[in-house]
Amino acid sequence: MERDTMSFDVVCVGCGVASLSTVLRLLNRVRGDQSGSQKTPPTVLVIEKAVSVGAHTLSGAVVDTKPLAELLSPQEFSALPQFATVKEESFQFLTPLGSRRVPWVLPPMRAEGFPIVSLSAVTRYLAGLCEKAGAEIYSGFAAVELLRDNGRITGVRLGDQGVDKKGEKKASFQPGADLTARVVVLGEGAFGFLSEQLIEQNRRAGSNPQTYAIGVKELIETPERKGAAGTIMHTFGYPLDPFTYGGGFVYCLSDTLTAVGMVTALDYRNPTLNPHDMFRLFKHHPSVRSFIAGGKVLEYGAKVLPEGGFHSVPDLVADGAIVVGDAGGLCNSLRLKGVHLAVQSGLCAGDALFEGWKNDDLSRATLMKYPERLKESPGWKELRGIRNVRACFTYGSIPGIMSVGMSAFTGGRLPPGRMALEPDREALKALAAVKPCQPPAKPDADEAGTQLDKLSDVFFSKTRHEEDQPCHLKIPDPEKCKICIVKYGAPCTLFCPGQVYVLKDDQQGIHIDFSNCLHCKTCQIKDPMDNIRWTPPEGGGGPVYSRM
Ligand code: SF4
Repeated sequence: MERDTMSFDVVCVGCGVASLSTVLRLLNRVRGDQSGSQKTPPTVLVIEKAVSVGAHTLSGAVVDTKPLAELLSPQEFSALPQFATVKEESFQFLTPLGSRRVPWVLPPMRAEGFPIVSLSAVTRYLAGLCEKAGAEIYSGFAAVELLRDNGRITGVRLGDQGVDKKGEKKASFQPGADLTARVVVLGEGAFGFLSEQLIEQNRRAGSNPQTYAIGVKELIETPERKGAAGTIMHTFGYPLDPFTYGGGFVYCLSDTLTAVGMVTALDYRNPTLNPHDMFRLFKHHPSVRSFIAGGKVLEYGAKVLPEGGFHSVPDLVADGAIVVGDAGGLCNSLRLKGVHLAVQSGLCAGDALFEGWKNDDLSRATLMKYPERLKESPGWKELRGIRNVRACFTYGSIPGIMSVGMSAFTGGRLPPGRMALEPDREALKALAAVKPCQPPAKPDADEAGTQLDKLSDVFFSKTRHEEDQPCHLKIPDPEKCKICIVKYGAPCTLFCPGQVYVLKDDQQGIHIDFSNCLHCKTCQIKDPMDNIRWTPPEGGGGPVYSRM
């Protein structure tokens, strides 16, 4: 098959904050160096599988802006789109009916003065700055393969467009182009399709596997609550059991707009746990309900967060490629923050690429300057300072909380060594060994607009896929589903936040409604039989977030 080939100096896969920070830093430094230099600026392309920039970008998001202040000029920084500034924050331990405010919060966990943003909007803003600096950005194109030559990564192949559900070419068929590059930057977000292939080959000896959490979020329009803008609340405890790490958040973006979310670690043990149900129970709690009573959902979305931290960060460099941001596991689960680390990685990666461009040397040795810089950065120090905290929470919330204190007072030296983490899929117990999780309560009248079932929520993600294309969710061995249904009760029908997996009437297999897929990748991470493969669908498919 004839494919077009296009060549660039740098190709970024994924138009998120980490990729865009890398590009902006590189091009800003090139521009700063141009005085007197005759060198041609590098050609940079960013590709994004979503239909538009920011449409697959979802986060809380209360952002620690220190790295952004380093990336942007003062004028650019002051124009950063934001809803409100955090003026009042609380950290609450929830019980089924009550709550207790944590009287003192460690300074690094505080957010007062940080902006509350829509990460979709911030992404669009950064993309505009990158284009102004000279980068090209194409959305609606999914990268499906790493191109290699003698072991070196030399580019990416885009997915074919116009293939029908049987795999036959339609009249609209377009073969995906090959994009060759001197360096490929993988900033696909957590559990990226290409990044995971690279990470699998590059797993750092003596490191932990990555562990994830599924975050579900709604943007809710509420009756006016004067003075609410800038109020935030983080919670732990109910509705999660003490052995399930996670918690909820409420961010008042304005007096009439509130973001509510629930994060559930995917090493949970009970196969009857449904993260969307946990979210509903959370919203029904009196402490949360007081923020959203009488409201209605405007947007819904879900994504996974990498939570393993310091000991789970893989090698971030391969010959011809680097991994940035969430794709490289750069996230602080304790602070529930990854945006600042994504920007931090972009600053370090952009500096390394600039040196490579200037010296005309983009060898692996030059690219290694990226992780070397990262290891000197405040973001790395932050991850190092809580290096065993996440692993301690697998033993329950009490050991977890004790480890937070120990780490804070010893700079991460206690607990000592590297505490091991297991892959999330191995944590599930058999159905027979657990007590079924509590279902959500019947909504009261003031909850009619905020207690939506999963399918109604999916409607608010605006997810769509071309129906006549091959299913992008593969089940390699359907026989394994039969074993899973008996042993675990088909947990994919519960953990998927898009209601993609439905038990067949004869209870002997799973039907897949791939058009509902939110691209969160929970299914491949959590399936106890390791029998689901998420692959990129035709470019342009998936959710369309605008204010998430
Ligand atoms: Fe997420 Fe998989 Fe469900 Fe898609 S099918 S929404 S990737 S869990």
